[in-house]
Amino acid sequence: MIDNLQFNVAQLMKDPVGSYRYVDVAADLEELVPDIELAEGAGPSSIEGRVRLMRTNQGILAQGTVSGETEVACARCLAPVPVDIEAEVEEVFVPTIDMATGRSIKPEEEDEALWIDEHHILDLTEVLRQDVLLELPVHVLCKEDCRGLCPECGTNLNEASCDCKPDIDPRWSSLTDLLKN
Ligand SMILES: [Zn+2]
Ligand SMILES: [Zn+2]
Repeated sequence: MIDNLQFNVAQLMKDPVGSYRYVDVAADLEELVPDIELAEGAGPSSIEGRVRLMRTNQGILAQGTVSGETEVACARCLAPVPVDIEAEVEEVFVPTIDMATGRSIKPEEEDEALWIDEHHILDLTEVLRQDVLLELPVHVLCKEDCRGLCPECGTNLNEASCDCKPDIDPRWSSLTDLLKN
């Protein structure tokens, strides 16, 4: 397991505003973003980066960049296409425990992904998942004019041709009928 997405910030929360430390972040791409369609045979892909955690008035500001590369399938022919992923993190995480009294507090922040839990764990998982999903190209082509696979026999038309007859456009078929009569 290479995942490193959760950090104990108990000490940092006790430090004065402006204090910071850097953490090394790493995640397995497929585990982080199960929706991602990696190309068949794509090796293990991870994203890594360095994030600065800084004590602010509200909580902890997490700021940094994580990046990695992987291979996704071409939308037309399924060939592996290398893609670079780079996600920017810039979020304020808020405490759910009052550091002075140890009592739980209800944060004003409504997004629970940005809550530091009762064990003072700041979890970047959800934030990174969202960022990576936004960064991922939806429709990847191996090349602009990829000819794709034949819908009949599956031949990769970039590499070979086949004898399948292309479907006749319905707008023309009535004309063909007309000509036959
Ligand atoms: Zn292709
Ligand atoms: Zn064919």
